[in-house]
Amino acid sequence: MTESSDRKDLRGFGNLGGLDLERYARQIMIPRIGEEGQKRLKVATVFIAGLGGLGSISAQYMAAAGVGELIIVDRDRVSLSNLNRQILHRTADLDWPKTESARKKLSAFNPDCRISPVSATITGDNAATLIAGADLVLDATDNMATRLDLNRAAMERGIPFIYGGIDGFDGMVSSFVPGETGCLACMFTERERIYKEQPALGVLGPTAGLIASIQSLEAIKYITGAGEMLKGRLLCIQGLDMSFREIRIEPNPDCTVCKELHHEQ
Ligand SMILES: [Zn+2]
Repeated sequence: MTESSDRKDLRGFGNLGGLDLERYARQIMIPRIGEEGQKRLKVATVFIAGLGGLGSISAQYMAAAGVGELIIVDRDRVSLSNLNRQILHRTADLDWPKTESARKKLSAFNPDCRISPVSATITGDNAATLIAGADLVLDATDNMATRLDLNRAAMERGIPFIYGGIDGFDGMVSSFVPGETGCLACMFTERERIYKEQPALGVLGPTAGLIASIQSLEAIKYITGAGEMLKGRLLCIQGLDMSFREIRIEPNPDCTVCKELHHEQ
């Protein structure tokens, strides 16, 4: 098993006040969430890598759901061509760092959610340090190289990694949980070099919203322990004919990331 002793105990030490019970009433009344699930959300720290089309949505849903802390990371500033899909940012935010634009909105949205903005480029060298202390990594990046760096860091630290990718009308999502599933590199080993060279893709706002919403649901399920996550399953959505299909993801015995982890055990 991977090392997870530095993770917080999500089985509940957050106390809910009267305002919490009111703000989150409609999710607390869901039997699989309840007050216990809400307490777990309150002590959870979620790392959101990227504040573009995916991160714009998942950051809002995480703050709205009552997650205790969001570590939000992006290196870019808001540009006009972002605004067809990155709906956390506004026209008035043009040229602002995305982390600042996001912090402002998320803090106003839910003052109880601690927002930790990090304006940085995620690399193989800093990924493990950046995600330290997080209970979960939400992948909202726009390139495969960064995803693979984050995936490796998350697997090494024993932190679940929820992958999301979008391309025009289409999207993909899957949850990788250390010790229980393979990892993103099991799936994309051969294609890594291709994706590194990939030019910018066309993106529709609702496609990003759909995938980020599924990632957010996966995050809430992981934190509260409700239901079954998308483990070992890649959900592929084709928006043009609105078809959903699943591809089984088996751990790859030649995966360099998983191999190293198994070697250490
Ligand atoms: Zn792997």
